[in-house]
Amino acid sequence: MRYLFGPVPSRRYGRSLGVDLAVPKTCTLDCRFCQLGPTPETTVTRTDRPPIAEVLAELRAWLASGQTADFITACGSGEPTLHTHFGDLFRCVRAETACRSLLLSNGSLFSLPEVRRDAALADVVKVSLHAWDQASFERVTRPHPSLRFDAIIAGYRTFRQQFAGRLDLEVFIVPGVNDAPDQAQRIAAIAQSFSPDAITLNTAVRPPADSGVTACPPEQLHALTALFGPAAHEGGAEPADAPVELTEAALIALVSRHPVSLHALAATFRKTEPEMRVFLEPLARRRLLRLFDSQSTLFAGPPAP
Ligand code: SF4
Repeated sequence: MRYLFGPVPSRRYGRSLGVDLAVPKTCTLDCRFCQLGPTPETTVTRTDRPPIAEVLAELRAWLASGQTADFITACGSGEPTLHTHFGDLFRCVRAETACRSLLLSNGSLFSLPEVRRDAALADVVKVSLHAWDQASFERVTRPHPSLRFDAIIAGYRTFRQQFAGRLDLEVFIVPGVNDAPDQAQRIAAIAQSFSPDAITLNTAVRPPADSGVTACPPEQLHALTALFGPAAHEGGAEPADAPVELTEAALIALVSRHPVSLHALAATFRKTEPEMRVFLEPLARRRLLRLFDSQSTLFAGPPAP
């Protein structure tokens, strides 16, 4: 499959089939914590590549094979709203499947009415907020120079008024950049102004684009989460709620877009870490995935190109 990956298990969204509308990595931001590696060159130019007809043909073939998922998710190797026809994916999911649709977006183009209009076709939309002003936005996400923090937040507020579905928010905590309580409080106040249904505070659990980015300690992440109110919870590694059968295909699908730690894989497949290792090592030798250490943790990720 060129554009589909998974379904991958997630605690919040169940089994999610990913649809990659931005391959190879194409993004408006170059977040320091990005688990997909550095953005070669940030852009805000929206395109119709890959052809949406090809993407939908692949999705229809997948559906025809009898497979199913809880969510069909626009996400992948960059920012899906850079695709001018990303809304067609949600129209197709609604008209032709029993699945729900999910948009995972960095939110940077929500200042555009046409992006908000098409995002509103999804059942669930998740956007991000890691900063409280233009300077902190630039420090955390290294955005395309044309992007204005205030315009994005204004876009979120307008979208909240237009959108009847569930709006989720991700806040990524980078120690030394946005982890002071007064900084988190300022982010929380902005979040409150557009009332997300759920807020997830994440920190680096996978190798980041900037190797200087470290993980926020669990106790501190817990304390910061409390500042965001009752809708907030801590993220982190996401084992599935339901046991997932350990097969080569399931494992390769899970690590095909970004690295997953040995610990998280063991939790997902309900195995011990040594059992998981025994399964992973032959796949690494066959170059179906790559095993590597980062910050003293073993990860499995996509094979080297
Ligand atoms: S984390 Fe998401 S928004 Fe940030 S650079 Fe990576 S793909 Fe783009």
